[in-house]
Amino acid sequence: MQIKIKADAYASGNNPQYTKWIEDNRGKWVEVETDHLFNNQYNTDTARIYDTQIDAVRDDARVNMGKCSYCGTMMHQKELICLKHAECPEHGVNWFTPENTFFLKYPNGLSVPTKEVTQKIGTYFLSKSLIDEHYELRNCRKRMLFKFDGRMFYVRDGIGYKRMRFLDVPQAVEKKVREKLGELMSR
Ligand SMILES: [Zn+2]
Repeated sequence: MQIKIKADAYASGNNPQYTKWIEDNRGKWVEVETDHLFNNQYNTDTARIYDTQIDAVRDDARVNMGKCSYCGTMMHQKELICLKHAECPEHGVNWFTPENTFFLKYPNGLSVPTKEVTQKIGTYFLSKSLIDEHYELRNCRKRMLFKFDGRMFYVRDGIGYKRMRFLDVPQAVEKKVREKLGELMSR
């Protein structure tokens, strides 16, 4: 399993070794350690990497895999339930799915049309974010960054994308946002 580090991937924190690793690997494919898998982050030989730092995933090891909700043991779908502890079966398994794992749904990411958009909607202002490939919706109290696939919103939550049917704004505003973005995508 490999991930492609964004050409302009940010290096958060102040660990020099981590920063150097990011700098050295920008724009490159790197190997992911698959012993422990997550919905929105990846262990590499040196660094923990988040969805918001990568462009794409290949040979995703999360296909047909999940994690025991009680003890976190990695599970394959043919195993059905974890039997490591007495408590495991009742807690079930959290399977990786395209619904809960952004890059399973979009292995090559989800790009945003290059056309500019600037639109006032109620008290909100919709625009294309200067931060890589996102739309931005903001007013004086709230600001959100997201992607949109014509149906669902993928709201950036700091390290990854949260799949949402509805944006956390008044319904009338969201309706206008959908209309505007739908128009952009169809053109
Ligand atoms: Zn377990």
